[in-house]
Amino acid sequence: MDILRTVSRGQGICFGHAFVVREDGGQVTVWDQCSFSEALEKTRSELEKLASDSDIFAAHYEMSQDPLIEDTYTEIKDDFIDDATACKEACEAICRLFEGIDDEYLRARVDDVKDVFGRILGHIEGRSKAGRFADIPHGSIIVAENLTPSDTVEIEMSAINGFVTEHGSTTSHVCIIAANNGKVAMVGVGGATEMIQNGQFMIVDASEGMVFVDPDEATRQEYERRVKTENEQLASVDVHAVAKTKNGKSVQVMANAGNPAEVKAAIEAGADGIGLLRSEFLYMESKDAFPSEETQFAAYREAATACGEKPLTIRTLDVGGDKKLAYWNTPKEENPFLGFRAIRVSMAMPDMFRNQLRAILRASAFGNIRIMFPMITSCEELASVLSVLDECKNELSESGIPFDQNIKAGIMIETPAAVLIAEELAAMVDFFSLGTNDLTQYVMAADRGNSAISHIYNPFAAAVQKAIKMAIDGAHNQGIECCMCGELASNKEATGMLLGYGLDTFSVSIPAIATIKYAITSL
Ligand code: PEP
Ligand code: MG
Repeated sequence: MDILRTVSRGQGICFGHAFVVREDGGQVTVWDQCSFSEALEKTRSELEKLASDSDIFAAHYEMSQDPLIEDTYTEIKDDFIDDATACKEACEAICRLFEGIDDEYLRARVDDVKDVFGRILGHIEGRSKAGRFADIPHGSIIVAENLTPSDTVEIEMSAINGFVTEHGSTTSHVCIIAANNGKVAMVGVGGATEMIQNGQFMIVDASEGMVFVDPDEATRQEYERRVKTENEQLASVDVHAVAKTKNGKSVQVMANAGNPAEVKAAIEAGADGIGLLRSEFLYMESKDAFPSEETQFAAYREAATACGEKPLTIRTLDVGGDKKLAYWNTPKEENPFLGFRAIRVSMAMPDMFRNQLRAILRASAFGNIRIMFPMITSCEELASVLSVLDECKNELSESGIPFDQNIKAGIMIETPAAVLIAEELAAMVDFFSLGTNDLTQYVMAADRGNSAISHIYNPFAAAVQKAIKMAIDGAHNQGIECCMCGELASNKEATGMLLGYGLDTFSVSIPAIATIKYAITSL
């Protein structure tokens, strides 16, 4: 038995025989070769047809229209480089741009760039990868270096049990598509296509980040027992109902989302609302300037409409730290996580902040929007933030622009400072949301991205648990609700403890919605 590991934890367990897809192993059908500009046109018209059926292809169609593709190609192409080589180099140049962005979601969009360029190149060279996924034996687990959205769309989902890929992150399309189809996906498994042979039997435990290849009988039996129990448990959950504990306490399980498409996916998967919409996506998608009020308004309205009456919690911009914007030059900082980050950036750039607040307020006329501020550290800071919000409300009222006059405003509790003055802060807002990803790093003085000290970065550490309890008590002493949107909320091992502390609402990753609803109903 071989065991392969990854640090990117997902959800679920699956069994099956490996169907190994190697980059050069596709079946090829040949048609006429063509120039780059003809290939780009063919790609656009192909994607235009596909766009109406799928958000992914709609995004690819939009990407194919981006002048960056032609501009980058034109810069590279000269008489000495053929169209196909220039196309590959343009793809690499654009991927490098995306990879330089310190945002996991946007880095994962490199797959989309490769996918669009893969189509263009296919036309230039007159070949297609179509058929690579034909004849997959029923019950397979696909093992690949990487899977693009087009690849995943080609796969007959009913034939497979899961995916293992060498590249990608938990926000890659392969994970989103797997979760939406109830499949298990495990990414970041280095060397998988080398070490796993076609047809080998595997057990994939995405929650533990382990792949067992040719498992022994004892491991197999143990996993069969665990899967049977978990399946029975999850099948008993009515994901579209609000979960109730055995004592009859209703507990909302909302979801975290990174863009309007994920908001829709979360609601379809049974989320009772969105407890965290990370608004960074708009700022990262924009290439040369902060997104306008109108662009933001359209995106927030789309997300609010998808939620219907359920709450949509929009967090204001949280850049800085490890998240940079291409068009925003900041001085180099010795300690970026302790530096110019989140609400500090917004307050230092009042026009940009007001644009965002006005866009959120205007969108609040179209749904049940709540607004949330990240990384608050003092009552004075919060008072200044709330006065900017009030000014924006007054401006809109004076101009007769509709918005929800009773919009709820809350804060993330993700700094030790906020925990220590939780009660005073709670007196100023409508809700708290515990950001345990940052709270853990600040309480434990352990960088959340540094694998060398990941044993210290532990949300179960006594000090973090005490901080969580103090924040919940602070909220309740002032009669406000306390949610948790950090990753700890998605961990079923923590559900009982968090309910015991009095946590009111969970906001979890999309694949964890059913799991956490089940955990609540069984307590
Ligand atoms: C957190 O810090 O727990 C959180 C949800 O915010 P982010 O992960 O976006 O920093
Ligand atoms: Mg945070």
